[in-house]
Amino acid sequence: MDKKYCKIVQDLLPNYIENLTSPETNQFIETHLKECKACEKSLEIMKKGIISESKKQSRQIDYLKRYKRKMIILKSVIGLVIIFILVFLGIKIYQWNLLSKIFDHNVEYEIGNNYKLISKNADGTITELFYKNGYCYYNVNNKGIIWEGPNSKYMIIPNDKTYLTLDKSTPPTGLADATITIGDYFLTDSSEKVNLFKTILTNNIDIHEEQYGEHQCYVILFEGQKLWIDKETLFIIRNDYNGQSTEFDIEIGTVTDDDVKMPDISEFTEIKN
Ligand SMILES: [Zn+2]
Repeated sequence: MDKKYCKIVQDLLPNYIENLTSPETNQFIETHLKECKACEKSLEIMKKGIISESKKQSRQIDYLKRYKRKMIILKSVIGLVIIFILVFLGIKIYQWNLLSKIFDHNVEYEIGNNYKLISKNADGTITELFYKNGYCYYNVNNKGIIWEGPNSKYMIIPNDKTYLTLDKSTPPTGLADATITIGDYFLTDSSEKVNLFKTILTNNIDIHEEQYGEHQCYVILFEGQKLWIDKETLFIIRNDYNGQSTEFDIEIGTVTDDDVKMPDISEFTEIKN
């Protein structure tokens, strides 16, 4: 046994363990190991050390792999949640936009001061509302008339020859009474778009497009109510609610002064509330 080789052999051992040494070197090392207990012991210790080191490394790699996998799953879940929220908000904002547009497009604002509104109930009753320059003549199911001028408002029952003075500040006024504006259905405060958004956000509202007769319509489903809104004019052309169906028709610019003339009530009796 040649102790002078021990240093060399021990320097070579790490590479030997990792199979990085040449066959000649291996032979030299192995010959020495057979004779030298000290170097053999060193080899065993080094092998154990390297193995436990590599085990530690592979455990670390495993941990990193698991961590990466978890991160991928987490990122996917977060991504999906974000996509879901964006799609949800996108739909709600689209609905808000559309309903706001329809609301803003309310008839009085849009067609100004001359229109005739015809409502047809499923039972065939026709209600006509004439509006011109602040004067309104509203035929209520052919039984009564609501007439309104700039300074007065009456409910007149021709059959009974009676009339009732109404408060100017209270509805019905023109189309608001004829439930033609979308605001009647969706807004508690007619000017509050924020309320409209809250309503849309917290309620299940379905809006889709549908052909109705000659009209291409937005159909709005909300709390059992179904509204058909003409895509082009943004007017309500049909309203189904509580099993009752009403169709609307609008004529613009056809109302004459005679249509909105105050009925002669000089012979009528005033009813007091
Ligand atoms: Zn040795």
